[in-house]
Amino acid sequence: MASTQLNLDAVIVGAGFSGLYMLHRLREAGFSTCVFEAGDNVGGTWYWNRYPGARCDVESIYYNYTFSEELLNEWTWSAKYAEQPEILRYINFVADKFDLRRDIQFKTRVNTAHYDEEKNRWDIQLDNGQSVTAKFFITAVGCLSASNVPKMKGLETFKGEWYHTGHWPHEKVEFKGKRVGVIGTGSSGIQSIPVIAQEAEHLTVFQRTPQYSSPARNTAHDPEYLKEIRANYNEIKTQMQQSAVGIPVVQGERSALEDPPEERQRLFEAAWEKGGLMTLSSTYNDLSINPEANETAQEFIRSKIREVVKNPEVAEKLLPSFYYGTKRTIIDTNYFETYNRDNVTLIDVRKAPIQEITASGIKTAEEEYDLDMIVFATGFDAMTGPLFKMDIRGKDGVSLKEKWAGGSQTRTYLGIGTAGFPNMFMLTGPESPSVLSNMMVSIEQHVEWVSDCLNYLRENGLGVIEANEDAENNWNQHCREVADMTLFTKTDSWYMGANIEGKARGFQIYLGGVGTYRQICDDVADKGYEGFALIPSKEPVL
Ligand code: NAP
Repeated sequence: MASTQLNLDAVIVGAGFSGLYMLHRLREAGFSTCVFEAGDNVGGTWYWNRYPGARCDVESIYYNYTFSEELLNEWTWSAKYAEQPEILRYINFVADKFDLRRDIQFKTRVNTAHYDEEKNRWDIQLDNGQSVTAKFFITAVGCLSASNVPKMKGLETFKGEWYHTGHWPHEKVEFKGKRVGVIGTGSSGIQSIPVIAQEAEHLTVFQRTPQYSSPARNTAHDPEYLKEIRANYNEIKTQMQQSAVGIPVVQGERSALEDPPEERQRLFEAAWEKGGLMTLSSTYNDLSINPEANETAQEFIRSKIREVVKNPEVAEKLLPSFYYGTKRTIIDTNYFETYNRDNVTLIDVRKAPIQEITASGIKTAEEEYDLDMIVFATGFDAMTGPLFKMDIRGKDGVSLKEKWAGGSQTRTYLGIGTAGFPNMFMLTGPESPSVLSNMMVSIEQHVEWVSDCLNYLRENGLGVIEANEDAENNWNQHCREVADMTLFTKTDSWYMGANIEGKARGFQIYLGGVGTYRQICDDVADKGYEGFALIPSKEPVL
């Protein structure tokens, strides 16, 4: 970026999928803009999460941009579930195709973003000492980008190597001949454990909460299938946009309790054999809302774990008991099978908690394990974490962290704006469908909504847009009411903020479905951005 370009229409933070598309849209619309990105290349989540086995659990044909037909026709995914290097290649391909890099400043972190009411501009300080001002401040920081390495006594004394899955080194990590410990059995742990086990001399898995996981059944793509998908993509795109979670899913139309056990078993078996993210959870229409119905899916998966894992004691430790689907649904490749290997040991740290990391390994309440490497698959400070890494201050110098009381009082309007923070937009922010949808669908919808909004402001001589408190309180209440109708809020999960010590509990995702949500956002825009205060511009800033 040219050093003179310090006075921008919009600053975008982050060069992942959302930041890149935001940049493209705003530039196409003639706004001056720049992306600041901490990494040294594009990719966001897919730049940082390079751990072995990393894949996207949304089918590749749905996990791409849909805004450009040319782009859709130029890229071919090799497999049903794309692995991280292929997704990163795709993102680089997009950045090159649309010549995005010239407006991205890499290796640059946004430290502070303060709104100056007098000037109606955002003053942004970068970690290289540079200052930038912009009319609009747009966060494209992702929902899962603030890694969580739990505070464990003694980590600094550990003599071996240690890594977090969300900040994986760019160089190959060698497991061969090593005793590796993995802490955590969420999506990242379940993807990496089978791959690490194949290479390591010995793998010890430290599990706190056993997880439900079902087979992904990944396969290479058949060219004929892809041809058919291409031919029908417009229709598929509409289905994605109008669906509940951003992928076309055939949702069962009756309760799990309506079927006799044999029929239920038949349907669950068919879903298990078919594989995929939503297959099992969509078998019936009440698995996410009715505890008794949910129990039938739980028990089915537990029976599968008992079937796959040969050692009954190990199998017992792997049996989950929370409501199925209320932690992120996981699909795997040979996860439970991995516990049949001679070089894999499973430790239940719920029973015997980790007490400390020592110079030579991990000490639990029962035993000490010698390790050459520790892999933290311990997740993220989700949703608010990435935003709180910056000192964002709105009107009267109030920080976002203060306004949201560190996360417990998170309030947004549509997950895009928040009162007191004029001209700030959060792409896939808290209280939008975000992580409980196909992120690509939600990202495109938010980016297009925000760029349409900026065009509207420009066309109508408006200088300020700010969420009204009433509108955001209503939205917050609506989000909670929808979430409370489900079982999601009955489980301690990162969706609830429960994985971070001291973080207040609260469900921060809109569960009304991406189709409904899109309609709500479109209606707001059609009504002249109802729920937002719009103030005419004092100067022709845009
Ligand atoms: P996660 O789901 O939060 O899992 C973290 C794991 O670490 C859990 O098993 C947790 O146990 C454990 N843990 C955390 N702190 C611990 C401690 N102090 N001691 C022992 N165990 C501890 O994190 P993740 O696996 O990185 O996944 C996060 C999200 O990223 C996913 O839910 C998903 O949305 C996304 N993701 C997606 C993909 C994909 O395929 N698209 C792949 C990876 C990740 P508890 O359950 O007891 O807290």
